[in-house]
Amino acid sequence: MARKILLIDDDRMQARLVQAHFKNFQGERYELDWAATYERGLESLLHGTHAACLLDYQLGERNGLELIREAVARGCRTPIVFLTAESAERIDVAAMNAGALDYLVKGEITPRMIERSLRYALKLGETLEALRRMATRDQLTGLLNRREFERVLNEEDERVRRFKHSLALVMVDIDHFKSVNDTHGHPAGDAVLREVSRRVADEVRTVDRAFRFGGEEIALLLMQTDRAGALDLAKRACRAVERDPIIVSDTIALNVTVSAGAAAMPVDAGTGYELLNAADKALYAAKAAGRNRAVAFNEL
Ligand code: GH3
Ligand code: MG
Ligand code: MG
Repeated sequence: MARKILLIDDDRMQARLVQAHFKNFQGERYELDWAATYERGLESLLHGTHAACLLDYQLGERNGLELIREAVARGCRTPIVFLTAESAERIDVAAMNAGALDYLVKGEITPRMIERSLRYALKLGETLEALRRMATRDQLTGLLNRREFERVLNEEDERVRRFKHSLALVMVDIDHFKSVNDTHGHPAGDAVLREVSRRVADEVRTVDRAFRFGGEEIALLLMQTDRAGALDLAKRACRAVERDPIIVSDTIALNVTVSAGAAAMPVDAGTGYELLNAADKALYAAKAAGRNRAVAFNEL
């Protein structure tokens, strides 16, 4: 199936010209969608169904630079190629800084140039996505990694203070995990870790809020959630792990449990750092109380 490219340009003549160029491509065929306004372009871009985007600088009252910044801030990762007028060299640089992967100068564009630029942007986009994944995800479990946890916690910490939201944290730790490794070997331990991660992450609204905090510890960051909501989720996580044995191999099925601690800002902690400490304390209380349970910070 032909990959879909989005053209955002408010100039009908220019859009026609680009469409005509697409018909003259030598190699791969693309399907071109056209959005004629800032708003429609942004909306289409955020759908995430296009392989790449050609973006014009002049868009009525607003411009393509604003659009790139807004799209990126809202999580867009579609490779963008900027279209600029001949005269505006500084805009080229600004577009690259805002997140465009390449730019083309209007008036000098040929079918070959667009084709080359698109191929380049698609390739670079794939490479960047792979790098992003490596930098943010834990390889064994697929959860977000510790570095990403610190980054998101800092970001949310600021948001909580500015907008008076609440933010909750649940720390989950596998019970007696060392004995799984000792009895069945490290590969079996890895399999348990993967399955526990999957079950716990499934309980969160979006998977992108589950982090591998360390060894066999999982952190769940819950936006705009209070302590009661966090405790509720912590209990569900415990049940999801306990419910069915984990099948490690044809001959090994293990009954695994986890303990969890829940805390929330601003009721239990004033900073992200304090939130981590509070959830940790609650987790240790859950361990001390016999494991396979969830405890909230206010129950200590
Ligand atoms: P508790 O109920 O108090 O949490 O006991 P525990 O045995 O789970 O806790 P402890 O901290 O003593 O042991 C954690 C173990 O987790 C030790 C370590 O070998 C193991 N571990 C950490 N990371 C990995 C990993 O990536 N794979 C495997 N297989 N084991 C890991
Ligand atoms: Mg443990
Ligand atoms: Mg531990």
